[in-house]
Amino acid sequence: MKPKATHKGHCQVCKSEQKLPGGVIARHGYKHPEGSHSFVGTCQGSGHPPIEVSRDRIEEVIKMYQIKIGNFEKHNAEIVAGKKVGSAAGPYADYAEVFVENGFYCYKRGPRSEILCSVLNPESDVGIFTVQRSRTVMALNEGMIKQYRLGIAYLEKLYADWAAGEIQPL
Ligand SMILES: [Zn+2]
Repeated sequence: MKPKATHKGHCQVCKSEQKLPGGVIARHGYKHPEGSHSFVGTCQGSGHPPIEVSRDRIEEVIKMYQIKIGNFEKHNAEIVAGKKVGSAAGPYADYAEVFVENGFYCYKRGPRSEILCSVLNPESDVGIFTVQRSRTVMALNEGMIKQYRLGIAYLEKLYADWAAGEIQPL
């Protein structure tokens, strides 16, 4: 158990105000303050010092996003090279479950079981399906790359504009 929070501060990644149990930002969900990009799940700023104290986490998250972009680009390059089809391997492990519903191919994503469907014909032969599924996954990968690029642009500005501040008592 972390010591009870006595102060509050702002998250390095999403800038939201949070309590500081043990001097670090409480666990919280991600909500982008300016709506330019969106990710779901726990904010990467959780468990790190507030922005008033440090900007180190911003730099780490930028590096994480760059690695993720690299993985998506690599996956797409492998699909283009015919080394992989758009299976749920690699960076798309989240989409491991693929099923057919009302004529759509659907991908069940992650622990929240978010469902994403694409306009694929279930009557297609395996070859066409493979090509279509590859295109679908490539488009999904491109979408993620775009999101992470927006995220990086936002975080780079936050990093450049950073100035130390005071955390406030609760
Ligand atoms: Zn946050």
